[in-house]
Amino acid sequence: MKKNLETICIHGGWKATKGEPQQLPIYQSTTFRYETSDQMAKLFDLEDTGYFYTRLANPTNDAVAKKIAALEGGVGAVLTSSGQAANFYAIFNICQAGDHFITSNNIYGGTFNLFGVTLKKLGIECTFIDQDWDDERIEAEFRPNTKCFFGETISNPGCRIFDIERFARIAHKHGVPLIVDNTFATPINCRPFEWGADIVTHSTTKYMDGHATQVGGCVVDSGNFDWEAQHDKFTCLTEPDESYHGLTYTTAFGNMAYTTKIVVQLMRDLGSIPAPQNSFLLNIGLETLALRMRQHCANAQKVAEWLEKNEKVGWISYAGLPSNQDHALAQKYLPGGTCGVIAFGLKGSREEAIRFMDNLDFISIVTHVADARTCVLHPASHTHRQLSEEQLREAGISPDLVRLSVGIENVDDIIADLQQAMDKM
Ligand code: PLP
Repeated sequence: MKKNLETICIHGGWKATKGEPQQLPIYQSTTFRYETSDQMAKLFDLEDTGYFYTRLANPTNDAVAKKIAALEGGVGAVLTSSGQAANFYAIFNICQAGDHFITSNNIYGGTFNLFGVTLKKLGIECTFIDQDWDDERIEAEFRPNTKCFFGETISNPGCRIFDIERFARIAHKHGVPLIVDNTFATPINCRPFEWGADIVTHSTTKYMDGHATQVGGCVVDSGNFDWEAQHDKFTCLTEPDESYHGLTYTTAFGNMAYTTKIVVQLMRDLGSIPAPQNSFLLNIGLETLALRMRQHCANAQKVAEWLEKNEKVGWISYAGLPSNQDHALAQKYLPGGTCGVIAFGLKGSREEAIRFMDNLDFISIVTHVADARTCVLHPASHTHRQLSEEQLREAGISPDLVRLSVGIENVDDIIADLQQAMDKM
């Protein structure tokens, strides 16, 4: 039976049968027992399927991955130990030393570093583009060794909206997949595969969990990208893998090729699986994701409208506001609401932003975002501290930017806390 997103949030991935636990059980076991040596050998020869070691597969992790795949409308998903690991795996699964990819520069600071510094050390180069450039200018950045295009549906912390359909068209014109980090939007507000994206990533640490209980990530595959049509570009998937029985992922696994390679090659060699206990917590968060997203968006809209009218506020970026440069994109891709995150700047110096934050009462200063509790951060002093002024500008972050993550408390209380903090400035 086809189910709506709210129902998948509750029932996706795990269905108890007679006498089984109603709640997804935590299979907190590194390994799984077999009765004969031959049974185990068949697993290694890929003649049978079954769990054998949690680094490769675990029933709790798999159930939650299935739920997220269903929410995004993908054919498969892999949970990772963090959002950073998810973005690393999404790229590294199809890029190796000597390869190149293109990314929007409106991305999370950690991803910016991963792409610009760490992947570079592995011999993978990336070009940061401005998503406001015209098609011609972006297309000029593609090279014969370009392997993918990356962007965030709603960027952290700038809150810009990624024109998924446009960038999917450009990526596909050049024979590469579009990878979209859908962390802030969540599949409740936007399903990037419906607009042509091929791979979706998540930091499940954020709205999916929603209660600041676990750090996690996820890579979801639409199953739509035709790797064989680009055989020579993606030999990592279309030619035999010596380290995996000489199997060719595309011929052996069809539209599950990309997902299978992450599990059997990257997880095998690099690890980064979540603890089953964490997946259990994530699953509880997912059960209320649809409800919470509606409340986050309703609250953030009211807070954004209040901030926009406030004389101490110099500028605001929230695509739910009609005055926002990305409002039309938000109406197209996120008609039910964007998310709870608002970027704004206070008039005055960078120090004003810090003073305002120190005056807050229940709104907390945390290195976290997209949580049930309203929280606040000054990226230039915190998450993006390692970036130079020039890199900050490139990433669309002004030194006065305050990232406010509107929670699901009573919105009048949130506004009252903001008001009293501004009154004291
Ligand atoms: N992607 C986005 C959009 C994020 O906001 C973050 C973290 O804030 C990450 C990826 C990294 O996720 P994690 O902190 O779970 O490693």
